[in-house]
Amino acid sequence: RGGQAEPEVPFTKPGSLTRIYAVTSGKGGVGKSSVTANLAAALASQGLSVGVVDADIYGFSIPRMLGVDHVPTQLDGMIVPPVAHGVKVISIGMFVEDKQPVVWRGPMLHRAVQQFLTDVFWGDLDVLLLDLPPGTGDVTISVAQLLPNAQILVVTTPQTAAAEVAERTGLIATQTKQKVAGVIENMSYLPQADGSRLEIFGAGGGQAVSASLTQTLGYEVELLAQLPLDIQLREGSDAGVPVTVANSGRPPADSPAALALSE
Ligand code: ADP
Repeated sequence: RGGQAEPEVPFTKPGSLTRIYAVTSGKGGVGKSSVTANLAAALASQGLSVGVVDADIYGFSIPRMLGVDHVPTQLDGMIVPPVAHGVKVISIGMFVEDKQPVVWRGPMLHRAVQQFLTDVFWGDLDVLLLDLPPGTGDVTISVAQLLPNAQILVVTTPQTAAAEVAERTGLIATQTKQKVAGVIENMSYLPQADGSRLEIFGAGGGQAVSASLTQTLGYEVELLAQLPLDIQLREGSDAGVPVTVANSGRPPADSPAALALSE
């Protein structure tokens, strides 16, 4: 497609009212996809029109977390995204053979993300969430190019080492001129029966990322939430029912993580 202009991404058109959040993390396994899936379901349950692009091409997990198992249909040359828990979802996982690894280089990844944005029938979305791969690789750069108006949500654990890498992902924003919307600390503690908090992964990571990004970027980057370890969150993700909507579309009263993500 050398020489051809890149197709326009509808979400970047002047006047587009869609709020776009790219969920990122320094490393894998910190709960980035869980946060994306649960936020999406919570926002949809509040009546918003929500879409999720699973841009974690190699490590896609959104289809399982949202319980989508069917292949998207096509209409007039556009891809119709499956809807789960009121959320429109697209993922590379819907297009690859079961359990086959995705082994693509940068340009292919860029095309995939671009197609997710331009060839999918999203309709008018209030919110678009993107689950980025961890780190600052090809997809992160592609998303910054394709969606310069996307705000960044940084997910980290309380651990110092995790926080340091998370800061680097947030700092990409200085180069791409994207705004960092805030920091979410996950796996912050394990609630104990006596009401105390067992800080399995230490403490302070989220606060550290928030403070350092605030200083470097020159505006307040808030620590938006500290989510505890929560068995119901894990079980919900495995079962394809985000815990934020597990109680007939509402968060269960005894799931602190779900309650925090529904605020
Ligand atoms: P990432 O997208 O950062 O790689 P995931 O969202 O896939 O991370 O989470 C990694 C694993 O940890 C998953 O099995 C998920 O269910 C679990 N998990 C994430 N956050 C929590 C939490 N707050 N409490 C319990 N389990 C969690």
